[in-house]
Amino acid sequence: MPLNLGRTDSGDLLWVENPFTGVVTYVTDIHRKRSGFQQKTEPRPEYPTHDLDPYRRRCPFCPGNESMTTTEVLRRTTAEGEWSTRAFYNLFPRIPVECTGGRNESYVLVESPRHFRDAATHPDHLEFTAGLGHARFREIVRDAAALSAIAFENPAVASVVVRKNQGRESGASQPHPHTQVIGGGREFSPIAAERRAVEESPDLWQEILDLAARERLVIDEREGCYLYFSPFGAFPRSYEIVDTRVSGRLHQIPTDRLDAFADLLFAALDILGDDPMDYEIHAEQGIPLHAHVHSRFFPYSNIAGTLNLPLQLLRPNP
Ligand SMILES: [Zn+2]
Ligand SMILES: [Zn+2]
Repeated sequence: MPLNLGRTDSGDLLWVENPFTGVVTYVTDIHRKRSGFQQKTEPRPEYPTHDLDPYRRRCPFCPGNESMTTTEVLRRTTAEGEWSTRAFYNLFPRIPVECTGGRNESYVLVESPRHFRDAATHPDHLEFTAGLGHARFREIVRDAAALSAIAFENPAVASVVVRKNQGRESGASQPHPHTQVIGGGREFSPIAAERRAVEESPDLWQEILDLAARERLVIDEREGCYLYFSPFGAFPRSYEIVDTRVSGRLHQIPTDRLDAFADLLFAALDILGDDPMDYEIHAEQGIPLHAHVHSRFFPYSNIAGTLNLPLQLLRPNP
């Protein structure tokens, strides 16, 4: 089944159906609507200088507080003997342990010992994933792959997903940069839907890449791995990273492919900076290695199951 989309008489994209969920995204001008809410026009207030040590002291993810977390399962150390990433069981399993053979398969990966960014003077001046740099991010993705291998040692685990939430608006419960790796007893439904769609249309992802190329949505390419603005993402600003030449569980992906994928995922995070966002990595047999990245900064409107994409993103110079 080909990608289902509509065009104007002049060939511009008018709507596109998400081939996995059936949700239709319309390309519209609604994002230019003036907000009737009172605008905050005052400049951002100068932050008074805070003593940030108390925040670090009570943060379970900060160095020195290792005893505040559950059992450690992974640690990466620097030449100086300090840890640079650390993983442990999530205190609150995201999937009930009864669904994974009585074992907790929800992991927290602390991405850095740094809680605050350089020159922070306020508790809101938090470190963020893009601030860690792409070399550190490669290590984070490799560590997530290692946690995927640990989860799959449990025969009751059927599927593993890597999930990052950055910022309160995106549902992050801890201010310290971290990622979750979650094993489930059954395949996660978006991955199952993607597998079914690919079984039906083996070239589907290539068609999506062709559409992205035609609409000039491709942002970067590295050795056959692509980063593009998704025309049917779940949020008004969504990005996808796809390598159609590799599939399989995250820990089964060859390191060079995983690094190229991490570099492009990092490029998407770099676009969003410290804005609230989330991403999810989907890696399973039968689907290409890919990630969905969602900015949570822009207004989200879902009317009767449809989504809207800003016209000016597709046709910046009408
Ligand atoms: Zn911390
Ligand atoms: Zn997916």
